Amino acid sequence: MAGELVLVVEDNEKNLKLVRDILRFNGYQTVEAVMAEEAINIARAQRPALILMDIQLPGMDGITAFKLLRADPTTERIPVIAVTASAMTLDRKKILETGFDGYQAKPIRVKEFTEEVQRVLRLQSDRKTGS
Ligand code: MN
Repeated sequence: MAGELVLVVEDNEKNLKLVRDILRFNGYQTVEAVMAEEAINIARAQRPALILMDIQLPGMDGITAFKLLRADPTTERIPVIAVTASAMTLDRKKILETGFDGYQAKPIRVKEFTEEVQRVLRLQSDRKTGS
């Protein structure tokens, strides 16, 4: 569904701009955070439809932030896609085992990224309607 709010957590300016541009081009609204702590506060206050979580962040990392989001009843059902450059050490399998709903490696490929966002949002809306 177009117009859904997506929280983008990313400390790299170029990646943030790319992700913002892709999301807005596809009709989503965006809200942004550079730090995990800030992201958690935004998630609690604004309940986005989806969170894109960079794993390497200044201060608290994206894995820790993800676990805090899942431990909080206010945010536990918001789907989270991990976005990571460390494809060597944190592979897709490990990320998904941690409980993330999706995974994208940097550098971001526009088509694959867009499809992953749509896939995860579709799963979430199917869950809500029970289909
Ligand atoms: Mn980063």
